[in-house]
Amino acid sequence: MARKEHKTDLCIVGGGLTGLCAAVAAARQGIKVVLMQDRPMLGGNASSEIRMWVRGAKGKENRETGIISELEEENIYRNPELCYSVWDGVMWEKVKKEKNIELLLNCSCCDCDAEKTPDGYVIKSVTGWQLTTYTWHTVYAKYFADCSGDSVLATLSGARFRVGREAKSEYGEAMGREESDEKTMGMSCLLQARETDHPVKFTPPDWAYVYEKDEDFNFACVRTPVADGSKSISDQTIKVATSMSRPHKLGTSETNFWWIEMGGDRDSIHDAEEMRDELLRIAYGIWDHVKNRADHKADNWELEWVGFLPGKRESRRYIGEYVMTEQDVEAGGKFDDVIAYGGWPMDDHNPAGFKSYEYSFPPSILYPAPSPYGIPYRVLYGRDVKNLFFAGRNISVTHAALSSTRVMATCSLIGQAAGNAAAICVKKNVTPHGVYKKYIGELQAKLLDQGCFIPGKVREIPALSREASLNIPEGERELLFNGIERPDAEFNRNYAVLPVGGEITFDFGEEKALTELRIVFDPDFSRESVSRNKKMRVFAQRAMRGLDFEPMKVANTLVRDFEIEADGKPVAVFSDYHNSLFRLPLGISARKLTVRFNKTWGSEEVHLFSCDVK
Ligand SMILES: Cc1cc2nc3c(=O)[nH]c(=O)nc-3n(C[C@H](O)[C@H](O)[C@H](O)COP(=O)(O)OP(=O)(O)OC[C@H]3O[C@@H](n4cnc5c(N)ncnc54)[C@H](O)[C@@H]3O)c2cc1C
Repeated sequence: MARKEHKTDLCIVGGGLTGLCAAVAAARQGIKVVLMQDRPMLGGNASSEIRMWVRGAKGKENRETGIISELEEENIYRNPELCYSVWDGVMWEKVKKEKNIELLLNCSCCDCDAEKTPDGYVIKSVTGWQLTTYTWHTVYAKYFADCSGDSVLATLSGARFRVGREAKSEYGEAMGREESDEKTMGMSCLLQARETDHPVKFTPPDWAYVYEKDEDFNFACVRTPVADGSKSISDQTIKVATSMSRPHKLGTSETNFWWIEMGGDRDSIHDAEEMRDELLRIAYGIWDHVKNRADHKADNWELEWVGFLPGKRESRRYIGEYVMTEQDVEAGGKFDDVIAYGGWPMDDHNPAGFKSYEYSFPPSILYPAPSPYGIPYRVLYGRDVKNLFFAGRNISVTHAALSSTRVMATCSLIGQAAGNAAAICVKKNVTPHGVYKKYIGELQAKLLDQGCFIPGKVREIPALSREASLNIPEGERELLFNGIERPDAEFNRNYAVLPVGGEITFDFGEEKALTELRIVFDPDFSRESVSRNKKMRVFAQRAMRGLDFEPMKVANTLVRDFEIEADGKPVAVFSDYHNSLFRLPLGISARKLTVRFNKTWGSEEVHLFSCDVK
């Protein structure tokens, strides 16, 4: 076997969307990163191996921005048919383009060297086995980030963690149990199918389960009093929608069979292989039911793909400096150290999963959560392992809070925050806790500058821009410089409007050194221009493909062609631009800087949430 050693600033274990965003964010801050991912591709549950669509905070105006929107905007531009393998390529390329990242794919972290100190541990290195090259990789780093979902570095380093659902007595959560347990949400193997123009036969394997009728696996989902001691809340706050039964209607943007779920009442790490076998028997049995038993209007549908790698919802969660709870979510997460936000309901899956009808308890209960609510920095690290971050579904939250924070757009924001925090640690030579003590404002400002939204925080406009005179009406200038880069809850525009072909000129009064131009275009938060299918507006991935599927379109409000001049001389020209955030290092001196917006992707107006120079 070969052996290889790496020395780096930050080693990230796990390349789901969280780890990916953490790595890209850190690398862009100029630190060296090794990203170790045990699968052949990036993206975790969003990858072509598992195929979950990326969800985040509810409410059109709450759509996540930052690295996650960069990825989704790129996917819609390059992959309008939403082919999962092409999406894999988009995620891979995002990492490969960062020269500060060394990517180790097919490399499973299975060891860690942690040194005991008087008040905890410091991780020196981690070691992973790379399947494709028969190589042991040992990575020495100043800081580590566990984005593995399963918290692999917790057991290896001695960090505190827990598994399962808290007792009411611990945090006073209404969703808490009378007694704590080790049950989790389960794992799933999803199905993907497509409609053809001819009948397609399906012959089930002899090991698939048989479900003759709907009642063999489904149940009439009535408003069910919660059976086993969970949240005692009034009927109207529990939304047990019909979708919480086991829908199996086929169609573009219909179910991805998320409810084929098992393992929550087992060990979701060590029993994963056994659970996969069971999930496959169920999945093939369900497809046989849809195709061959009763009329499900499925004659022309063919099974395109069945997941062989169970997607995991929950396993070990770290215990950090702060543990975020159900009450924190419900109170809107108003923390001084807020660095990200969520807004998905508390979506608590029954550990019994697919077998849950036996308990007349639905597969999932949705408890309302405000959207957006803030997530504090202190859930990303503990005080026991001095140089370790955690990000993703393994952060320091209770089971109840996790049932909301776990969705992938939220995890991506958390990853971006962790990557930036790690870069501050490297540059200032402080621990993750040191960032909380001294640099939390700097971290928040960096995230805002990168286009992330942080509830309650407003981006500061560079003085150079504020002091310049502009050739646009005062009202539009105010909108451009209000530091808010999305519509409000009533969908009032927060953007300045220009005609297509219009320009903005900054006049600084005298020659000034200009370092960067930053523009935020309107990504069409309502996404009406992205798809005519209302459900598809939510996603940048798809599960089923009916004959009515229409390719996604680049948001018509994004600016496609634009050019930049300094004192009348050309600086740069951009065409086919399709992202909402634009940043250009300038490194010039000039008295005037002009940006001319020549063409959008269809809109008759140019919308600018921000445009400033520093
Ligand atoms: C069936 C299902 C349905 C869901 N529905 C939705 C939904 O509709 N929308 C949504 O947004 N979210 C959904 N979720 C939740 C969401 O997918 C997860 O909470 C989210 O993926 C967590 O992100 P993560 O980056 O922490 O983990 P992951 O996406 O799991 O990524 C972690 C990565 O780390 C890798 N890894 C693990 N151990 C190691 C190791 N030892 N060494 C190296 N690499 C390692 C894993 O292979 C994986 O690729 C669903 C989850 C499941 C399972």
